[in-house]
This record gives sequence, structure tokens and C-alpha cells, in this order.
Amino acid sequence: MWTVNLPRRAPLFPLPTPLHRLSRLSDRWGVDLWIKRDDLTGLALGGNKGRKLEFLLAHAQALGATHLLCSGASQSNLIRQAAVVGRVAGLRVTAVCMDQPFQGAGRSEVLPGAERGGNLVLDGWTGLRRLRLPNGTWDELDAAVEEEAARLTAAGERVYVLPLGGSSPLGAYAFYQAGAEVAHQAHQPFDAIVTASSSGSTQVGLATWFADSATRVIGISADPEPEIVEDLVDLSARFHGELGVGRALRERDFDFRLDYVGPGYSIPSPAGEAALRDLVETEGIFLDPTYTAKAFAGLTDLVARNELRGRILFWHTGGTPALFVAHESMVEG
Ligand SMILES: *Cc1c(COP(=O)(O)O)cnc(C)c1O
Repeated sequence: MWTVNLPRRAPLFPLPTPLHRLSRLSDRWGVDLWIKRDDLTGLALGGNKGRKLEFLLAHAQALGATHLLCSGASQSNLIRQAAVVGRVAGLRVTAVCMDQPFQGAGRSEVLPGAERGGNLVLDGWTGLRRLRLPNGTWDELDAAVEEEAARLTAAGERVYVLPLGGSSPLGAYAFYQAGAEVAHQAHQPFDAIVTASSSGSTQVGLATWFADSATRVIGISADPEPEIVEDLVDLSARFHGELGVGRALRERDFDFRLDYVGPGYSIPSPAGEAALRDLVETEGIFLDPTYTAKAFAGLTDLVARNELRGRILFWHTGGTPALFVAHESMVEG
């Protein structure tokens, strides 16, 4: 007989997050629309990275880490939450931050305004050590992280490198557990769950939990690169391989939509802004321009086209600090 050691969780905030019905939009659209409030994970202003960090922190602590090293775009929600998580756990935290990329827009300049406000203000309260990298490729970012890890290790630190976006088998496991959480909270199954998707562990975790069930999981991409679906398949293979959970999902198991990115990663889209305004005006809930507004624009469109009917769950993954980035200057019409 053999056993798999399931990952340990370092509890950082109360779970479950709220699940509630959006009755005004349900009435307007003739569907049964619900929302999962992971914008209210009660840690450092919330968001989906909190769930992943509970498992990543437990792993780092089990390895005796003294230093968390993370990376991402300058307005990264993972960096903000990791900075706080490390601090409260008594670890030092360094972030390698890349100027917000314009990838997909065919431009190489820095996104105007993205280097001020939003998460950068919050990071300033956490004692985070920030290293700034000019706008480049994700490979350049990885290389910079490796160099910094070597430097810190040489200086005597025990470094734990957090994966980009918190997406590793442990990050996916956090959302596999979140699938169990919502299945337990809801009295009936959902026909569909719609979530923003980027580094992939949110979608992989939920899609694994709901695989071969009556609930389909739809990921609305925040990035323009179609290859991301291969990253989902890779992550799923590693998740299943390392943790023995669920089954490895194939490309056709992922409902991954690239239609709602708009002008590019982190650049607001007109449909996203309309969706954001709509949800504030009907239900009093704020979305963020980079991820959730585009995901909700996707949901709105799929309902309008009759592709989504019945009992629908929107997974609010957070990100609201990005509302405080000066976006006006970015939209050129
Ligand atoms: C990171 C993030 C996502 C995407 O989640 P992944 O697990 O990286 O795919 C969605 N919404 C918000 C607000 C995020 O910060």
C-alpha cells in the first residue's frame, strides 16, 4: 500500500469566501447568475493569489526558507500578496518586477501610468525589496530571477522561488480545493463556471475538480498568446504527476477563450470597461481592468449569444488595486 502526501496549507485567512446570487443581473438576463467572492480572500486586499500562497508558504516553511523570491509584471497581484504573506511569516521578500509589458500590442514601450499607483502603493507598505527590470520577455524575467536567487543564496539566504502567478502544482491544488469548497457551498451544481485565466493554476485547479462533471469551466484569457493553452496542459500534467490528484487534462478538456483580451495584457478593453460599469451599477461590485472586467465581458457576451444559459457562476479573482492605476492615459481611443 502506498500513500500520497497531500500538500499542507498554512491558513492565512478565513475560508470559504462568500458565494451569492446576483439577482438583478439574473432577472435582466433570464439566467441564474452567482458570484464567488475571491476578491474577498481576507489577506492584503484579497484576490486569487491568496489561496495559492497558503500552499506555497507551507512548502517554503517546510523547506526552512528564509527568503521568498517572486517576480511578475510591475502591477502583479501575486507580488503584493506574497510581500504581505512573507512579512507576516517572518521571511524576507524580494520581487523582480518587469515594467508592465505591452506584449501583444506590438509595442515595446512601458505602459504609461503602470509604474505608479495601484499595487505599487500597497507594496510600499510591506517592506518588500523590489528590483526593477525594463520591459522585456518572460525569459529575461526568469533569467533575472535565477541570477538573484544565486546572489541571495551566496549571501547565506535559503531562497524559495515563487512561480510566476503562483502557478505550479501547489497553486493548482489550491484551486482544486476551491472547487471542492464551492461544490460544498452550492446546493445545486452549476452549469458553468467562468473565470479569468492567465498563469493557469486557477483554471487548471477548477477544471480538474469539475472534470467529467456537469459543470464546465470556462477560462477567459487576460493575455493574447494562443500558446497559453499548452501551458495549461503542461501544468495539468505536472499537477497530476506530482500530486496524484484528478487526471491529466488534454487540450480539448480546456475551454479557454482568447476573444476578450482586447488591445493586450493589462490594457483596458472597451468591453471590459462596459462590463465593469455594468456590475457596479447593478450589483455594486467592482471588477479590475486587467483580468476580471475582461472575464465578465466574456460572460456577458456568451450569455447574449445563448452559449451560456442556466446556472452560471462568475469567479471573481480580485485584482481591484489596479483600479487605482491611472488608466485614462493608457486608452488612446
Ligand atoms: C493572477 C490573476 C488571475 C489569473 O489567475 P491565474 O491562476 O494566474 O490564471 C485572474 N485574476 C486576477 C485578479 C489575478 O490577479
